[in-house]
Amino acid sequence: MKVIESPQEMQNWSRAQAKAGLSIGLVPTMGYLHEGHLSLVRRARELCDLVVVSIFVNPIQFGEGEDFDRYPRDLSRDLDLLKKEGVGVVFAPTATAMYPEKERTIVDPPTGMENRLCGRNRPGHFRGVTTVVSKLFNICLPDVAVFGQKDAQQALIIEKMVRDLNFPVRIVRGEIVRELDGLAMSSRNVYLSPEDRKKATVLYRSLLMARDLVGQGVRKTSQVRKAMFDMIDQVDGTQIDYIEIYNARDLSELEEINGQVLIALAVRFGDTRLIDNLLLEV
Ligand code: AMP
Repeated sequence: MKVIESPQEMQNWSRAQAKAGLSIGLVPTMGYLHEGHLSLVRRARELCDLVVVSIFVNPIQFGEGEDFDRYPRDLSRDLDLLKKEGVGVVFAPTATAMYPEKERTIVDPPTGMENRLCGRNRPGHFRGVTTVVSKLFNICLPDVAVFGQKDAQQALIIEKMVRDLNFPVRIVRGEIVRELDGLAMSSRNVYLSPEDRKKATVLYRSLLMARDLVGQGVRKTSQVRKAMFDMIDQVDGTQIDYIEIYNARDLSELEEINGQVLIALAVRFGDTRLIDNLLLEV
């Protein structure tokens, strides 16, 4: 397995593979890998001849006061995990290599999609994401890029960006991988105290309850959101950032649950903000 730090060297490598007729599947990550990331790697391997995993904690997608500095990092552990998965190349650039100049071009996320859900309390977050993903596409030249449903809004925004800007990349979504008790795997779960780790299971339970309510015929989004809010709010020390039910295709608002819907939430446990979601077809 090759570890490449230089964007130029990465691009040269990718060009050479394309010339040899080999397809590339890219899995962009911020490292501190878990089974969720590895499931995306396996998906990429099924679809392509070669897999490139990028590991880059992208400074420009973190706002002031967010967890950029303390975001967990362990490159040697990540490399061990990826070696076992048969990954061809890990692209692990420094921030200076990715952003050598202070003045820079920014790729704006699609209008209308970036200000809701995670964008509401994280202004500028998705501009950081669309900018870095555009750079990664141009550097790694993938045929396929795999993103997790865990970050549903991010996946939607990237899919739209790829359509709007004609990136020659196929975007594939991987399902959410969960711990045995239902908590969605996340690099940020290591921040949780043992008590908060237990409490955090309420997130998935609230999503399952929402699914049950819809299964019983409840169609009012306000009713389902309120039931979820009450369930999470009952748990001591939780701070709800949002609970939303949107059209899963374009994130438009819904009064009635109908068609493909995304039930998404973000909740804080102390300093740790966790997200989760569920897709429903009604
Ligand atoms: P991150 O390192 O958190 O930026 O995540 C990198 C990629 O892994 C993103 O496409 C995420 O959506 C995806 N991902 C994160 N957690 C999970 C999970 N539990 N299951 C599946 N994919 C995930």
